Order: sequence, then C-alpha cells, then structure tokens
Amino acid sequence: MDFFFDALIVGSGLAGLRAALEIPADYKVGLISKVFPTRSHSGAAQGGIGAALGNEEPDSWEWHMYDTVKGGDYLTDQDAAETLASDAPRAVYELEHMGVPFNRTAEGKIAQRAFGGHTRDFGEGPVKRACYAADRTGRVVLDTLYGKALEKKVHIFSEYYMLDLIFSQRKAVGAVVYELATGNVHAVWSKTILIATGGYGRVFKTNSNCFTNTGDGVYFCFRNGIPLEDMEFVQFHPTGIYPLGVLLSEAARGEGGVLINGLGTRFMPEYAPTLQDLAPRDVVSRAISTEIRAGRGINGGDYVHLDLTHLGASRIEEKLSDISSFARIYLGIDSTSQPIPVTPTCHYMMGGIPTDLNGRVVGLDGSVITGLYAAGESACVSVHGANRLGTNSLLDLVVFGRRAGKAISEDSKGLESPQPIEGSAVDVVEKIRRIKNSKGKKAAGIRAGMQQAMTDTCSVFRNKEDMEKGLDEIRRIKGDYQSVSIDNKGDKFNTDLLEAMELESLLGLAEVILVSALNRTESRGAHYREDYPERDDQNWLKHSLATSSPDGPAISFKPVKITRFEPKARKF
Ligand SMILES: Cc1cc2nc3c(=O)[nH]c(=O)nc-3n(C[C@H](O)[C@H](O)[C@H](O)COP(=O)(O)OP(=O)(O)OC[C@H]3O[C@@H](n4cnc5c(N)ncnc54)[C@H](O)[C@@H]3O)c2cc1C
Repeated sequence: MDFFFDALIVGSGLAGLRAALEIPADYKVGLISKVFPTRSHSGAAQGGIGAALGNEEPDSWEWHMYDTVKGGDYLTDQDAAETLASDAPRAVYELEHMGVPFNRTAEGKIAQRAFGGHTRDFGEGPVKRACYAADRTGRVVLDTLYGKALEKKVHIFSEYYMLDLIFSQRKAVGAVVYELATGNVHAVWSKTILIATGGYGRVFKTNSNCFTNTGDGVYFCFRNGIPLEDMEFVQFHPTGIYPLGVLLSEAARGEGGVLINGLGTRFMPEYAPTLQDLAPRDVVSRAISTEIRAGRGINGGDYVHLDLTHLGASRIEEKLSDISSFARIYLGIDSTSQPIPVTPTCHYMMGGIPTDLNGRVVGLDGSVITGLYAAGESACVSVHGANRLGTNSLLDLVVFGRRAGKAISEDSKGLESPQPIEGSAVDVVEKIRRIKNSKGKKAAGIRAGMQQAMTDTCSVFRNKEDMEKGLDEIRRIKGDYQSVSIDNKGDKFNTDLLEAMELESLLGLAEVILVSALNRTESRGAHYREDYPERDDQNWLKHSLATSSPDGPAISFKPVKITRFEPKARKF
C-alpha cells in the first residue's frame, strides 16, 4: 500500500516527537516507530536535561556553552553550542508548560543538580544545572510529548520498520516500511523526511542502549551516498552495572556518589583535581579503565565500585530510586549499605548524519539534500564534538528537534508531493525472501561476533594494531552476513527477520566506526589512541566525513566552527 504525507518523521523518541509538534496542524504528518512510541530509548534517560536556569545557584548560558565546547574537546561547532546553551532555558520552561513534572526546590522552582563537566565561571567548579524528575527524566518528558502528539492527531505508525529510504534525483522522497503485525511492505511518500532514529550503541557488546538502537536511519543515509560525520567518537559511560552494561546515571555522582578502587581509595581526585568524580565522561571512563588495567579493580577484577552508602536511605529513595532498584533487581545489592560494581559501557554516539543548525542534511559537497532532515542522536550538528556532556542530549533533542520541525514546515510549502516510483520496494522484498530461504549462519551468532570484536578492539583505549584486527574481523563477519539465516519463516510479528535486517545496519556502522577511528591519528575526547596519546590541533582540529565507496568507507574532512573559545589544553 502507498501512503502520502507532507512530512514523514522516522522515530518517535524526543527528537521526532518534538519536531512533529512544531509542524502546523494543516500539514499531513506521519510518524513511524519500530516500537510503541513511548518505548523509544529517550524514555530510559535518567539524570536530567541541562539549562542554565540558575534556580539553585548562579549560572549563565555562556558558562554552559563553554562547558559544551571544552567537554567536546574543541571539536564542537561553536555556533551549535551557542544555539543549544542560549535556547536551553526557553526549551525547559516550554517543557514545564507542557506539563512535565520536574522536581521542585523549596520555593517551587524547577530543582537542579550537578552533572559531569558542567561548571560555574568557566571551569571553576561544579554547578547545579541539570533539571530532573527523580532519575526518570526521559520517561516523563517522553510521556508528555507523546500525549501532545496524540492531541495533535499526528498519524502514528506504531511497530512499523523503515527498511530503506527512497531518493529521486538527490531528493529524499519516501521510505520503504515493513508492518510488524502483518509482514506487509508499504511505500510512504512525503515532501520531507526527518530521520530521528536515535543511536546505535548495540554495535558493542557492553552497552546501555535498548534493543532498537541499531542505527537504521544513519546507515540508510550512508548506503545512499550521504557522508557520516565524526563516527570515531563513541561515548563510553563510566558507570554501567558490571557486567551487564545497564546504566547507572551520572546523577548518582551528581548527588554525591563516589568511585572507589580495589584498594578502597577514591581515585578520581588524582585524575581530575577540580571536578573529581564529576569530570566529563571520557575522563572518568579512562580513569576507571586505567585503574582496572593497573590491577586496582575490585579484587583485581575488571570493575570498580560506585559508592552511595554515605548519601543515606531517604536521599537515595527520593532522588535515585530507579538506580537503587536497578542495583537490587540486577545484582541483589542494597545500595544504601553496599557499593555497586560498575564498568564503562557504550552509551552514546557523538557522530551521525551531518546537518546544519536547522536539521537540514548536508551532503559531501556542503550543499543541503532536498527534503531530508535529521535530529537527535542520529544527527551530528555537531554540538557534542568529541565527547557529549551528560544532560546535553535531552536538550539537543528538544532544541534541534524543534528547529528541524520549523525548517520542515517552511520547506514543505515550496515542494511538490513526490510521484510514486514503481519498484521502489523490490530490493527490500527480495532481501526478505533471501533471508527466509537462506541456510547460512544465524543472525544471533553473527551479531555476537560483531559486538565482541568491537568491544575488544575499539573501546575506551584504541590502537592501530587492534583496530586493524577488528576491521578484518568485521569484514569477515560481513561476508557471513551475506547468507544470514533465521528460524522463523512466518509473516506475522517476525522479530527474528527484523533483527536480521537490523544487523546489516549495525555491521555497516561498525565498519564506518573502525575506519574513522583508524584514520584519526590523535587522541581527542572519547577517541583515545594509545599510539597517539596527544591531541593534535595542527593536523586534526577538523571533522571527519565517511562516505560509502566500493572499497569501503572513504574519509574526507570539514572545518570546525570556532567563534568564542580558542582551543586550550583541557584540565578538570
Ligand atoms: C540509559 C540511558 C540514559 C540516558 N540518560 C540521559 C540523560 O539523563 N540526559 C541526557 O541528556 N541524555 C541521556 N541519554 C541519552 C539520550 O537519552 C539519547 O541520546 C536520546 O534519548 C536519543 O533520542 P532520539 O530521539 O534521538 O532517539 P530515541 O529516543 O532512541 O528514539 C529512536 C526512535 O527511532 C525509532 N526507529 C529506529 N529505527 C527505526 C526504523 N528502522 N524504523 C522505524 N523506526 C525506527 C525507534 O522506534 C524510536 O522511536 C541516555 C541514554 C541512555 C541509553
């Protein structure tokens, strides 16, 4: 069946929903999501959304901008950081007016807490900037925006999977979509298409992401000739529950939790004398990995402890209740009396589909791709540079999601409805047939091999030798994938088939991450090369762009936008 829209949004996380709310009611808006909208990963966000409201102590958006630039190790485009930080207070008050139930101060203002890398007075010490609703901030914002989208009568396709993008003469015109309940394949045509499909942390074995974070929108852009920006920058969050990787938010340290090594010592003051346990994530993850490598993990093992015991039961219950219940459910640990074992976990992708400040996707030649937009974790504005600060993603979603929605509203007026193109879904239908008939290796085994290879060779510490091994392995696994097979041959609710389809995106992006990481011979933010341990501004103060070619991803570059803050050595 064919569907027609003025605006098609793929992804019902906060980026997609915020964009949808910005598009006027007389536009036909379609919203596609793999999962029921409120199950999107945005709902898992725990710690908060950053904005210099100054409700708890003095703050300014210029300090927030500075932290975002410095936290991103100066790879952040500063016009984007300025937009993010200066628009943040408006964005948070807008959420409040929509009905988001934030925690409150005694005077009834939105409560705020400290978070990694957020400082007062350009780096002088931690500041309380994260607005939060206990440790389930994403949940309440997602539920609120979903309610608004229902009021607005956005046409929602829940449990529909985009399996390809359709282009006509360098214009995005539609998507091929699979209906989970029936197995039917549809074409959806639209004047404009927003990719808001989120991250792809599932590329790694230990990760904090939900099952749906497989990077489909990002990979489909790459497959269709659109470059991907800064893909080597993968964030490892310091405190994943050991050994599962499930996240324990930085809010735990924002509320006063500390990291302890196997000698019973607080080690962060040695690595970051000013911010200590609240240094940016790249710094804390490297510190934990360094302690573990030096044999100072707990009992010499590959984890350290997150200690909340001194916070007291009532504070933990009131501010960190989800976190303490995770410790109880997954490990049987009572966080009021016992420390929690933690280890770095793949958490967030700084790289993605390159866009301008209004969500318009930018091609290799620097010009905009007509009809195509990206926002949220799938996009690279680039506002997070080489390392995102905690609470800046939720903010990115609502600030740049809104701007993308505005751009779509303006641009759609001047665009014709696309004419359906015969045979657009043929490739997808053929791929489904091939997978169902194949007798090759099973998808689960192929995925496990990919995740292991990425975790072993391209994690917190990287070097040429390991990454070359990793790349060989991923290319070999891609060979196995050509004949991937599945057990379920049915049409209805065939998640086996869809997981096999998603694996193509994960494998494609794993290769792009490795090639980009091998190429960048310096250390910056989350990308740490043991063989090139220094940041090298002379040669590498530039964004990388990976474009699909017959020989694999090809790398080119574009300049970083520097407006207010000249690059300096980072000290925390
Ligand atoms: C555990 C956890 C805690 C976090 N805590 C915080 C925090 O406290 N503060 C903060 O700022 N950030 C936090 N983050 C980061 C932040 O939550 C994410 O970066 C952000 O939610 C991504 O939002 P999004 O709208 O881009 O995509 P998502 O919310 O991930 O949504 C993606 C959407 O795309 C859809 N989709 C994907 N592929 C397809 C396809 N092929 N077809 C159809 N639909 C598709 C999915 O169904 C989903 O609706 C956290 C992340 C995690 C994992």
